[in-house]
Amino acid sequence: MPGNVLVVAEHRDGHLKKVAFEMLGEGTRIAAKMELGGVVEAALLGSGVGGVADALAHYGAARVYLADDPSLGRYSSEGYTTVLAQLIQKTEPAVVLLGATPQGQDLAARVAARLGLGLASDCTAFEVAADGRLMITRPIYAGRAIATVIEKTIPQMLTVRPNVMVPLEPDPLRTAPVEKLAVETGDIRAKVIDLIQESGRQQVGLSEAEIIVSGGRGLKGPENFCLLEELADVLGAAVGASRAAVDAGWIDHSHQVGQTGKTVTPNLYIACGISGAAQHLAGMKTARYIVAINRDPDAPIFRVADYGIVGDLFEVVPILTAELKKALQQKRPVPQQW
Ligand SMILES: Cc1cc2nc3c(=O)[nH]c(=O)nc-3n(C[C@H](O)[C@H](O)[C@H](O)COP(=O)(O)OP(=O)(O)OC[C@H]3O[C@@H](n4cnc5c(N)ncnc54)[C@H](O)[C@@H]3O)c2cc1C
Repeated sequence: MPGNVLVVAEHRDGHLKKVAFEMLGEGTRIAAKMELGGVVEAALLGSGVGGVADALAHYGAARVYLADDPSLGRYSSEGYTTVLAQLIQKTEPAVVLLGATPQGQDLAARVAARLGLGLASDCTAFEVAADGRLMITRPIYAGRAIATVIEKTIPQMLTVRPNVMVPLEPDPLRTAPVEKLAVETGDIRAKVIDLIQESGRQQVGLSEAEIIVSGGRGLKGPENFCLLEELADVLGAAVGASRAAVDAGWIDHSHQVGQTGKTVTPNLYIACGISGAAQHLAGMKTARYIVAINRDPDAPIFRVADYGIVGDLFEVVPILTAELKKALQQKRPVPQQW
């Protein structure tokens, strides 16, 4: 069954999300399988976003469909659904991939309903079956079981969990034609009037963060997350948490790392008072460097940690914060004297 893989490239304010590159990499691998024999293409929707089309080509897109229109400046379920559904009908891909992000999940469900397609959400692995269809792996029942799904409808439509697939090495010499789409959003009944930034310090998104400071039951209570927030502020990091901390109501679920939370791949993951249960490791073990702070020398987290500090986090974290603050201030360039 020949066909192409269409990747919907999500961005925020013109910055592409990591998951877009990951889907292009996985899409390239899927499309290269003999049975599909197609290429990976990207759909880019927004206003004034054409500048990132080159990056999509560098990461594997053989063609970029660009829907660039002021009406798409802010994400709207209806407008984006209409444009993407029209594109799918026009290009007839075999597979459509969207990120399993809040926006991707919303858009995928609407487009699937509009076109009468099945939808597999939060997928973590793919194989190409003998008939050329994808066999899709996805966790179900809050991660207690893993399902293998083959969708009956074509195109096969899926959302892909961020930070699980591997992007291709970017090639700045790789280029792709950009096809501009005529945008007809039709009558949009709901529109975003205002965006309100959530209060609190979490400025860096967990899925995209290069450094994460994460806390578990060892923190003893919600009030102690401020210790991690201070360290995170010094490092420009995001704050993560174990499920035990989330289930205790100490921090919102959006911070949870692990099998039933977010999968993260930062350069540095600092685990404070987290034992290292398999379900937590499932979400962070591919971090480049893992630092564990735990008072139990036998805690399983030390088996995956690159650096381990056996000690009381209430003593260690403030010292670490103060020392890093000093070290990073010293590294700042001295202003030039005239
Ligand atoms: C289906 C399923 C899905 C799950 N999904 C997830 C998931 O997505 N994410 C997740 O995290 N878990 C998940 N879990 C739960 C997981 O099994 C563990 O229960 C959980 O990760 C434990 O969290 P924790 O490490 O914070 O707590 P604990 O296991 O209780 O560990 C607390 C650690 O803190 C240390 N400590 C205590 N006091 C201090 C101190 N003062 N200084 C330093 N160290 C200290 C202790 O030595 C201990 O190692 C899931 C479980 C199931 C069954």
